[in-house]
Order: sequence, then structure tokens, then C-alpha cells
Amino acid sequence: MSSRVLAPVLACAVLGAAGGALLRQEPPFHGGGHRPALLAEHEEGRAKRLRVLENALARSESGQLPPSVEGADRGFDVLTYDVWFGFDPAAQLLEGRVTMRVLGVKDGIAELPLDLDDSFEIQRTRRDDVDVTPVRRGAGKLVLPIDPPLRAEGRTSFTVNYRGLPPAGGALAFWRHGTVPAATTVAEPFGARDFWPCVDDPHDKATMTVSATLPAGFVFASIGKLTTRDETDGRRTFTWKLPQPVSTYLLPLNVTNYVTIEDTYTRLDGRTMPIVSYVLPENRDADALRLADIPRHLATLAALFGEYPYADTKYGIVASHFSGGMEHPTLTSVGANLLADPGRDLTVLLVHELSHQWWGDLVTMRTWDDIWLNEGFATYAEVLYAEKADGADPGLGMRARDDGLYAGALGPPVVADPADPFRNTGAVYRKGAWALHMLRSELGDATFFAGLLEWRRRHAFGTATRGDLRALYEELSGRDLKAFFDQWIETPYRPTLRIGYRTSPDAAQLTLTVTQTQTHAVVHPAAGPDDRRWYRFPLTVRLTGVDGRTADVTVPVTGRSATETFVVVNPLLAPLADLDVDPANVLLKVVETVGPY
Ligand SMILES: [Zn+2]
Repeated sequence: MSSRVLAPVLACAVLGAAGGALLRQEPPFHGGGHRPALLAEHEEGRAKRLRVLENALARSESGQLPPSVEGADRGFDVLTYDVWFGFDPAAQLLEGRVTMRVLGVKDGIAELPLDLDDSFEIQRTRRDDVDVTPVRRGAGKLVLPIDPPLRAEGRTSFTVNYRGLPPAGGALAFWRHGTVPAATTVAEPFGARDFWPCVDDPHDKATMTVSATLPAGFVFASIGKLTTRDETDGRRTFTWKLPQPVSTYLLPLNVTNYVTIEDTYTRLDGRTMPIVSYVLPENRDADALRLADIPRHLATLAALFGEYPYADTKYGIVASHFSGGMEHPTLTSVGANLLADPGRDLTVLLVHELSHQWWGDLVTMRTWDDIWLNEGFATYAEVLYAEKADGADPGLGMRARDDGLYAGALGPPVVADPADPFRNTGAVYRKGAWALHMLRSELGDATFFAGLLEWRRRHAFGTATRGDLRALYEELSGRDLKAFFDQWIETPYRPTLRIGYRTSPDAAQLTLTVTQTQTHAVVHPAAGPDDRRWYRFPLTVRLTGVDGRTADVTVPVTGRSATETFVVVNPLLAPLADLDVDPANVLLKVVETVGPY
């Protein structure tokens, strides 16, 4: 299909810089005679970025230190967390008890450093049921002694009892709908410590059991399966258990007078799984309609990425204070305000969040600089879903996620600041998705999709890095992908191109010149013998002959110099009426000029 229809060239002739040759100026990447100068930020990305900002503001007002980013190599591994909360959402005072089982992975570990906000008072700490005195408390840390020190393969357990008012602006929000109190959490990236003590690092995954004891009338919704629900003395206790290990930022607490909407997903093997969503009673009827497509979302993504990872428990969504989406395993949080607005089409958001069950929850970035492994994947999953479910063109889907600007929202490198991973959501979400789209285009669908399944197989229930992704696709493709990852993941901006063409007098040959005019050089974090200053990529152009026929030609831009000239057979064997650059939208770029010379 020609994209000419969708990106008509505005044939405004301008004098080109090169020797006064007449060049025709293409409209910037968006084409169509207009360009959205401001691309709306990804809805989820905006919500996550604002939450981090609010949290930082609240912390600076209270004089607290910002949370520290922990290294991954601690010498121990938390295997399980058993978390209990007791509270009344109307009173906001949180009482908690967390028991963790810990495995030594090297000898001589004498301290267990936990993250916990200073707002909480520590009531009791025990190791293997014996009281211990914390080594340190403050600056967001609770450090417990391990005496004698833990050895490799040694196991021990700790229990922390604590209580207090959770920090304002933190992960746990108290709110009301009508007059009914509610309490919900969004802890990503550094907020688990705002309501429970843990090793708040995505790299240390653990299985989790979470209970809450609440006044009558309240419902507690969380991850995995509801294993018990007791009512004694007018107080209710709900216990949820997720058998698969997940990162601490993924444990949610959701409390209000929820009602449920139930549905069924038929798995790839024909068995069924419950879909249970927790919504506000006043929105139940409207939400039942808008959540009716979840079985289709699940079936489509399972066909793309393999079976839904938590098919032994459930999936569902829960109404939250958070005006976006957050991918808690088996229970995605969606803003109650979005769910209450019947005019909002939530398909893209729901698909994005559901895809995180594979990309983010099952396979998680090891460190926050690789947040694109969650968000770029989930953003590209929106495009893959539309392609698979509705036959949408993925190139157009990607173009709709680009502002077409050299230094626009997609300008920063895909790799994020680990201390502020959601600062540049355009790069993390959309340029990350573009990287995957380009990888697919370069390696072909068979390798790309096989790679996604292999990515899952290798790193399920664990964490991974961009280096792991590169190694996997290098294995599958037999290619060196250093240049690809350097230029698209590590390097800011994008190439800006001037394309010139001419045909020989007999129209048998086509000469194509590709000039990269960007001023920045490709970044190479690790030097390699084949590093180049310029981008390298296959470039496809669509030729239209004077007789209206079309043909595509692909040339290998090598990045060896700013201008490269390619002399190829003109498959039309006729003079050209037009030339369209990258008709399938498989390259992130700016086309400055294109025309005969
Ligand atoms: Zn996301």
C-alpha cells in the first residue's frame, strides 16, 4: 500500500542549498499538510511523571531526603514477603506487619537494609521470632542486624511491626468518592517504602501474600488470588496471594466499598480464567460496558506474546486515585475519574496496561535506566494489538506516536536517568517503541516475534537489561547489533536527512544521494572497532514513474560519511515523477528535503 495517499507531498518549491539546485521541501515527518506541533504526552507516562513530581515536592516540603537508588548486589535475596495492613481509610493511620524470608547469596552478610519512610514508628523487629534492635533508622532506612552473619545458602526471616501516618504525597493516597473513604496506592518507582518496609529495588523479586483488616463495608483488592475472607467482630480481613515473584513496586493496596464486575477469559489451552474488576458502585453499569473487551485484549496479546503470565489466578482492573494506569500484576489500577467518564475510549490504555503483565511484571527492567524495557514495550504493544486485532498499519501507528521533531518529545536518549526514570516519557515510551519497531523492520517479523517469546522464556519472573535484549537478538539474527543499540537507545535525537535523486538519460539507472545533516554524533558508550559518527540503516524509497507505476528500492546507508551516493538499477526503467522516502514508516528521522538534482 502506498503511503502517498496519507502523506501527500506539499510541492512547495524552494531553492536548495546545494549549488542552487531546485529542491522540493517535504512537510516534516507528519505530512498530511499539517503537523501536530505538540504531540500529547502518553497518558500513562504523564500520570507517572506527575506522580513522581508531586512526591518530590511533598518530600522537599517536609525536608526529607529523596529516595536513594540501590545497587542490586546486596549479597542476599528476599524470597517472600508476607504483608499485613490494619487500618481504617477514614482515619488514615496505617498499622503494618511484614515478614520476609531471606536467602544468603554470599557469606558474611551482617545487616539487612530495608527501605521505609521515616514517618513510621517501628514497634517491634524480630529475626526468626527473636527480638532484635535495629542497627540504624532514618533517612528512609531501617537496618536490621544479622548476627551471626548470614552465609551463602543460609536462610533467615525477619518481621517488622510498624505504624504511623503514611507520608503526604507518597504512594498511598487517601481520597473519597462521594462521602465514602478510599485508599489506593501507586508505588512506581520508589514508593513501596511509603507504606511497607522492603528492599525497594525491582531487581529483588519475591512472592507476596498481602492481607488487610478493615472496618465492615470495605473491600480490599490486590494481586493474585483471594485466598481468605473473614469477618470477626465487625472487622473484615482479606488475604491475597500471588504465587509468582514480582518486584516490590508492584504490590498495591486498594480499599473502598468496591463492587465487582466478573467475566471469563478462555485461555489458549481452552481452560478458563476469571476476570474480576473492582469498581466504584456508582460506576458499575458504565464500567461493565467499557470493560467488556478485556477478554479480547487478553486473547490478542496471548496470541502475540504467549499465554497471559498469571493465568492460574485472575486479571482485572481496579478503580484508583491515579489518573492514568498502573500495571499491578493481575490487577491493573485505572483512574476512577477515567472509569467514570463515559466519553473516554480506554482501549489503548487498557491494552497498554495489560501488555505490562508480560513486559514489566513478568520480565522487569533490572535497573531504572532501562524503564523503556517496560514502557517502550508496552507502547509498542498498543501498536501490535491494533495490527493484530484490527488490521491497522503499524507504520501509521508509529507515526501517530511521533511529533516528527529533531529535538522534540522523542529527543532524549531512550536510556533514562535511574534517579528520575519518568522525566522524559517521550523518549522512554515512544522512542523506546520506535526502537522496537525499527528492530522488527531490520530483522524481519519472524526473528522479531520469536525474539519476544524468547525474551519472555529467558527472563520470566526475573529482570533483564538492554544488554540482555541486544545479546538475545544478536543470537537469533546472527548480526552484530552494537551500532543499532548505540544509535537508537543510547544516542539522543535522530537523523535528519536530505535526499536527492536523478535518473540516467535512458532512465535505466537511479542515483540516490543520502545526506545526514544532524549535528550530533552517534554515542558509543563502549568503544568498538566499527563505531561510526553517522547513523546506519536500510533506507527504502518508493519510486513513482511518469506513467504512474511504483516500485520500492532499498539502499544500505552505512554511516561512514555524511553523504552517501548509491547507483542502482531503476526498476521502473522510466523517468520518475516522484520519490517517497520511507513509505512504510519504519525509520525514526526527519526528512528535510527530497527532490531531483
Ligand atoms: Zn506503561
